[in-house]
Amino acid sequence: MDSLFFKEEHIMIRDMVRNFADDQIMPLARSLDEEEKFPLELVQEMGRLGLMGMIVPQEYGGSGLDMVAFATAIIELARADASVAITMAAHNSLGTLPLLLFGNDDQKRSYLPKLASGEILGAFGLTEPEAGSDAGATKTRAIKSNNDYVVNGGKIFITNAGKAGLLSFTAQVIDSGNNIGIAAFIIPTDTPGLEIGKKEKKMGWKASDTRQIYFKDMKIPSSAMLGQPENGFKTFLKTLTSGRISIGALSVGTALGAYEKALRYSVERSAFNKPIHEFQSIGFKLADMATSIQASKLLVYHAAWLKDQGKGINKEAAMAKLFASETAMNVTSEAIQIHGGYGYVKDYDVERYFRDAKILEIGEGTSEIQRLIISREIIKDIKL
Ligand SMILES: Cc1cc2nc3c(=O)[nH]c(=O)nc-3n(C[C@H](O)[C@H](O)[C@H](O)COP(=O)(O)OP(=O)(O)OC[C@H]3O[C@@H](n4cnc5c(N)ncnc54)[C@H](O)[C@@H]3O)c2cc1C
Repeated sequence: MDSLFFKEEHIMIRDMVRNFADDQIMPLARSLDEEEKFPLELVQEMGRLGLMGMIVPQEYGGSGLDMVAFATAIIELARADASVAITMAAHNSLGTLPLLLFGNDDQKRSYLPKLASGEILGAFGLTEPEAGSDAGATKTRAIKSNNDYVVNGGKIFITNAGKAGLLSFTAQVIDSGNNIGIAAFIIPTDTPGLEIGKKEKKMGWKASDTRQIYFKDMKIPSSAMLGQPENGFKTFLKTLTSGRISIGALSVGTALGAYEKALRYSVERSAFNKPIHEFQSIGFKLADMATSIQASKLLVYHAAWLKDQGKGINKEAAMAKLFASETAMNVTSEAIQIHGGYGYVKDYDVERYFRDAKILEIGEGTSEIQRLIISREIIKDIKL
């Protein structure tokens, strides 16, 4: 299947990231989870390997790779540890993409080389206590005052927030008393008036850093705006569809990691004097797991490939994210079932994959929102 979407460079990236994940991430994954420890050294190593600027053009210090390469790297990282994978994926997509798409040349030259090398991490603040799926309901306000904006409000559940050097965020823009739309801004995280909250205690992704953010009379220059609010918030959100490919890839990797452990266990574990994979009910579970992972991979790589061809991917990215995340949930649950009681304790790691899978059905657009997008797109496709 790889030959459908892969060129030689993709095979090299897959092998390089797989070796790195096997040698350096796998041995640490359990302790990072148990200690809820941010994987700083691994992030620095990913910077050296060129993984922190994968889709940034080479002229800005990035690796200048495509979405197929990006998805491949995320799958390999998530196969070892979803927390490490989301740290890298959120930095590349949420943290860097808005700047890449909407930044002017000055903004790109100031920030992209540092992001691409991994010298600083990027974060993106869209979600608020009362604006999640309904991201347009944002209450954060940026009020124009001469050549500055004064920002008040806050964001929740922001990945990488406590470790980031740069933050992009959205706010309603008020100019001369008029609300002129929602815009995105980019600021260094040491900007006075920006406060980073305490780390969230989560079910999974425990080594990933997730926090609240508060803006308290935060004064920022007009030059911090990314693009223009008049261009439309909807256009801005649409460009984040690439994030769905990265969560789809994270889902494939999470499912793959749990499946491989279950497959191995089914050969090693015996009951009634035979290895458990010889029971048809276990063999069929493994068959269903392998099939749904293969289907997820195809959906994710197809969406990534279409994106690389410059095609619209609203429907395809939503389908990939929806199917792959629900696959990750099912496969990780079955991996525990195949391990029996040992799956429920921490010694075999599959319970970590299960805990890490749930968020995939929620973050960057819930399953319900993906179905909403897909249903709208398929109706649009009908020629009446
Ligand atoms: C670990 C973690 C990391 C995250 N990282 C980031 C980040 O880096 N940046 C960021 O901005 N956000 C981030 N998020 C936020 C995440 O994207 C939101 O939680 C998600 O979009 C859902 O929003 P919500 O939690 O407000 O749920 P709600 O929107 O309140 O949804 C609640 C329920 O209602 C359903 N629902 C809502 N609207 C509809 C509708 N129109 N039709 C059908 N069902 C609907 C939802 O599907 C869901 O089941 C993160 C969240 C978590 C938990």
